[in-house]
Amino acid sequence: MASLQNLYGFDRAQLEQLFVEQGLQAFRGRQLMKWVYHQGKTNFADMTDLPLAMREWLGANCHFSLPEIERQLTSKDGTVKWLLRVGNGDLIEMVLIPEKGRNTLCVSSQIGCVLDCSFCSTGKQGFNGNLTSADIVGQVVLANQMLATREESVTNVVLMGMGEPLLNFDAVIAATNVMKDDHAFGLSKRRVTISTAGVVPAIDKLREITDVALAISLHAPNDELRNELVPINRKYPIEDLMRACKAYVDALGPARKLVIEYTLMRGVNDQPEHAKALAVLLRPLRCKVNLIPFNPFPGSGYERPHRKDIEHFQTVMIRSGFTAMLRTTRGEDIDAACGQLVGQVQDRTRRQSRYKARLEVATPQPVVVQ
Ligand code: SAH
Repeated sequence: MASLQNLYGFDRAQLEQLFVEQGLQAFRGRQLMKWVYHQGKTNFADMTDLPLAMREWLGANCHFSLPEIERQLTSKDGTVKWLLRVGNGDLIEMVLIPEKGRNTLCVSSQIGCVLDCSFCSTGKQGFNGNLTSADIVGQVVLANQMLATREESVTNVVLMGMGEPLLNFDAVIAATNVMKDDHAFGLSKRRVTISTAGVVPAIDKLREITDVALAISLHAPNDELRNELVPINRKYPIEDLMRACKAYVDALGPARKLVIEYTLMRGVNDQPEHAKALAVLLRPLRCKVNLIPFNPFPGSGYERPHRKDIEHFQTVMIRSGFTAMLRTTRGEDIDAACGQLVGQVQDRTRRQSRYKARLEVATPQPVVVQ
């Protein structure tokens, strides 16, 4: 028997196509989206304006299914972190950051990551596959279900959780389409951000098909240092990345900017000469800079920068004419930074030989057990 299709993974065009293939009109797809995302109904029998035969066909062939909440932790500062179980039992994370009338949800796009950036905890856990678009949309649905209890909803989505979104391209595009769609979450294109370590061909492709906000995890002003911190730089060096960034932001138009993320690590990339070189590098690019003090985790080998170095770095950028925000650390008491909670739980999970066997088969790089 063919498996049921999880319709959370379908964007509007895909749903319309599904209906047309069943001999119905495309607008039925939009009707269905409104039931699901505006009325919160996922039982096809309740969708009374769909033809009965269609409701029956949907019931027999499709479903709406969400990741399972394995754990939910709330920090003193209001940050909420979920550990979610997807597909055949893998664990992923998502984090909700409430601040000043905004609810920013940080979602995962992959189970682990292949990129192995030297300072990232997710990279150390290896890679166990892509999330489906339904898993990505499902994260927003789950956060909204929690927020609905206080009559709020997710206002911003950032694909800055586990994984490299541009290496799970089609699923990420379908999911961000649902986030932006007025028949679904209706978020503005400025409030949906894809964050990438710099998969240059995918940035070029992205420009052709979407207009979401783009954040680049730069972390270094020159190739020598970036090769060490973000190994994908060896394949797509800074010059190529800057060319793709400029093309993307040009396509967005003059009112919009790229976000450059720069994680500051003590004595590694946080010195005045790094700031000055960064300002020179970014001068031709319409962008703002997000400075993120390194979030330490056991065995990382890096340290959080000194306060005075962070402030000096920010001052250099501002004096050079950039908007340079310092991202404050949130949810420290619940290990809200990337990959950290899964890291703890996975140590236990690894004892299950089934999981271990899968990791050994699927992981393209050695799994570092901390
Ligand atoms: N792969 C994507 C998205 C996931 S990482 C990307 O690279 O952009 C999201 C952001 O968190 C990236 O800017 C990443 O470099 C940063 N990050 C990862 N580990 C960190 C840590 N321990 N401390 C501070 N920032 C970190």
